[in-house]
Amino acid sequence: MKDIILRGTSNDGGIRFWACTTINIVEEARLIHNTYPVTTAALGRMLTAGSMMGTMLKSENDKITLQINGKGPAGNIIVVSDKTGDVRGYIGNPYVDLPLNEVGKLDVGGAIGKNGLFTVIKDLGLKEPYVGQVPIVNGEIAEDAASYFATSEQVPTAVALGVRVARDGKVDSAGGFIVQVMPGAAEDIIELIEQNVKNIKSVTEVIPLNGAQGIIGEIMKGVEYRIHETQEVSYRCNCNRDRLEKALISIGKKDISEIIAEQGEAELICHFCNKKYLFNKEELQDILKKATQ
Ligand SMILES: [Zn+2]
Repeated sequence: MKDIILRGTSNDGGIRFWACTTINIVEEARLIHNTYPVTTAALGRMLTAGSMMGTMLKSENDKITLQINGKGPAGNIIVVSDKTGDVRGYIGNPYVDLPLNEVGKLDVGGAIGKNGLFTVIKDLGLKEPYVGQVPIVNGEIAEDAASYFATSEQVPTAVALGVRVARDGKVDSAGGFIVQVMPGAAEDIIELIEQNVKNIKSVTEVIPLNGAQGIIGEIMKGVEYRIHETQEVSYRCNCNRDRLEKALISIGKKDISEIIAEQGEAELICHFCNKKYLFNKEELQDILKKATQ
């Protein structure tokens, strides 16, 4: 079964919602980054949020980056997505092993830490990117993302993100939802949705049974709604040789000369997909010529 994002609105337009399944995305991230269960969940929740927030972008060339760093053992987590909802991610330290938290769940908040910021960067093709930043609420990511929407975008938003890891370490359920209240939404509908969001079983329980559709059925219970779009989403990195070459050029003449003299070649590894790019001596000498400083 492919990962999908469903998007829709209540018939009166007062409520917007997104629901997604991300089992394949998170499992691929686990295999690329060798994450332990708690970091599989941490990176997986970020990827799930990033994928849904990607589909909120307007233009094909827009790009969104989410970053969380709470000074916990997992370090920095970065995910990047675009309008397609395809997403890629990176985690500073995938090898975190923590006891389950007080409610018997993977301690994502403990892995990420609570002393830092949740940051959203939107590259909309303008001179400067848009940057929204909020203090971390609890490091569980869903509440941090909800706080971002409420504070930086002034949109009341409920967010749920879930990743369930099986005994063998594989991802057996993952996904989430985002529900937003638009200006002018009817009070009775808002109350109904708030109640539904409170009542929903964990998204990771709903997904294996009824998928993203099942999540929407629960959050929109009692409200007339329409699904406007269904998008398949996947883990996708768009690194290429050109981009890595630019990165090499940017380190400057002195460092490039040193690499040529000491190693004679350079191997660069993409942080998002682990793809290796080898530059031989001749190529490095060309790159040295292109470097301006
Ligand atoms: Zn890559």
